[in-house]
Amino acid sequence: MSKDKNLSPQTLLAQALGWVDRKTSALIPPIYNSVTYERGPDNSYSNGFIYSRNANPTSQQLERLLAELETGKDAIVLASGMSAATATFMTLKSGDHVVAQSVMYWAIKKWLIGFANQWGISVDLFDPEDTTSLKKLIRPGETKLVWIETPANPTFSCVDIAEVAKIVKGSGARLCVDSTIATPILTRPIELGADVVMHSATKYLNGHGDVTAGVLITAHDDEWWRQVRGIRSSHGKILSPSDAWLLLRGIRTLDLRVRQSCKSAMAIAKHFDSNSKIIEVLYPGLGNSLTHDIASKQMEGGFGGMLSIRFKGGQPRAVEIAAKLKIFKRATSFGGVESLVEHRASIEGEGTLVPDDLLRFSVGIENVDDLIGDLEQAIA
Ligand SMILES: *Cc1c(COP(=O)(O)O)cnc(C)c1O
Repeated sequence: MSKDKNLSPQTLLAQALGWVDRKTSALIPPIYNSVTYERGPDNSYSNGFIYSRNANPTSQQLERLLAELETGKDAIVLASGMSAATATFMTLKSGDHVVAQSVMYWAIKKWLIGFANQWGISVDLFDPEDTTSLKKLIRPGETKLVWIETPANPTFSCVDIAEVAKIVKGSGARLCVDSTIATPILTRPIELGADVVMHSATKYLNGHGDVTAGVLITAHDDEWWRQVRGIRSSHGKILSPSDAWLLLRGIRTLDLRVRQSCKSAMAIAKHFDSNSKIIEVLYPGLGNSLTHDIASKQMEGGFGGMLSIRFKGGQPRAVEIAAKLKIFKRATSFGGVESLVEHRASIEGEGTLVPDDLLRFSVGIENVDDLIGDLEQAIA
């Protein structure tokens, strides 16, 4: 077991901590499908494993790796990103208050508003481009959870994690960061003062579009964390051992994949930024982005592989361009090795704040000139 905190993320990832199976000396871990574990004659569970809903050895290797990558105390993997997000909100009680973003992952925001309504929890939303507005919303003692997402879907505005952590500290609230788009390669929220980090591992962490999974990493091993672990177990929000194994394989190349996607996304953003058929390119790496300074401060080595483009001509034009793309596939989700495009307003539906002329792009690891050429022929 590697406990060396000085190892770089690249090394930790490539070796998946370098664990070797003690029985067989296998470098690649087996998939432990067992639902149940034998008690010793002394009635104890000597290896700590009891039943599939509590913990699993295949998942545990992944969890140790994630905790180290995010410099946290502990981590859990769950059945999906939504499972991870909802597990944190389920710790709230009637009368509690939550602050989240007006622009964030659509499905979490929609679920949170309905959940809060049903359980007597109040929610306030702040504009992610104006962190000062968040300060006024915190109710000391009453606000229990502050939820931020940076870069935020699908405008990719960045929220200053260190600044928000300062605001939240001492208020009695917990700061949770959805870091799905940044990944631990570019940003480590716990180092910046966050209490909890969440990822949809369906995206970059797995990176191959064949696993649905979620992750939570905590900065504190406390009573609240035990409650979250309990929710995973009692609600059965668990990842299957086979999916944990696939994720453990996919994550080994995270560093290479994320760096290539960042490089290509930056090249695409720059190439199309001054195109006369485009209203604007939304990418935190561009100097004209409203939150570029925040992104530069807290994203290391790149600005992410996601960008949005608003096209002149409204929805019909945006949909037409998506239809003409050949390499970019029209599909939801992101963070895989293949590039995707999505007319975001269509999937979010009624009540969306996303302009209908916007296409969201997930930049994969294909040759960047091929990707730029594909967009050029579609826009022409
Ligand atoms: C996809 C996504 C989620 C939800 O994750 P699932 O794995 O689809 O349940 C949450 N947050 C962000 C930012 C996402 O992109």
